[in-house]
Amino acid sequence: MAYDDQNIFARILRGELPAIKVYEDDKVLAFMDIMPQAEGHTLVIPKSPAETLLDLDAEDAAYTIQIVQKIARAIEKGLDAKGIVLMQLSGASAGQTVPHVHFHLIPSSIHELGRHAATMGDTDKIQALAEKIKAAL
Ligand code: AMP
Repeated sequence: MAYDDQNIFARILRGELPAIKVYEDDKVLAFMDIMPQAEGHTLVIPKSPAETLLDLDAEDAAYTIQIVQKIARAIEKGLDAKGIVLMQLSGASAGQTVPHVHFHLIPSSIHELGRHAATMGDTDKIQALAEKIKAAL
């Protein structure tokens, strides 16, 4: 399917919508999930216009996973996370709701994950968690 350049993450990448960013370079952006399944739920996205992992260029995939690891380390250090769930949904049938490939880093346990993209978080609290992650980068 053709990439929809009006999806929420494409609009965040163009600066048309706000995001609580924790990391950005020329290829990747990491920002806080606004409906977190746990405190510190962070999203990492490549800037290239790919809908799912299956559409992503291999080089972009390799680079993005390095940043996923970098952010995971910052979450562990900055939030004293004991474990992190890495989740990636490819396709609406898998539950993907935003059609721009992204990796979820959720400091939680698979046994305790909350409902997906269900409840808006407290922005001030999310911002404070983002500052801790940024400080640990
Ligand atoms: P998925 O269902 O895997 O596509 O995940 C999309 C994620 O994006 C969900 O966890 C949502 O809570 C999150 N989300 C939706 N809109 C925004 C937004 N504007 N800023 C940050 N996260 C968002």
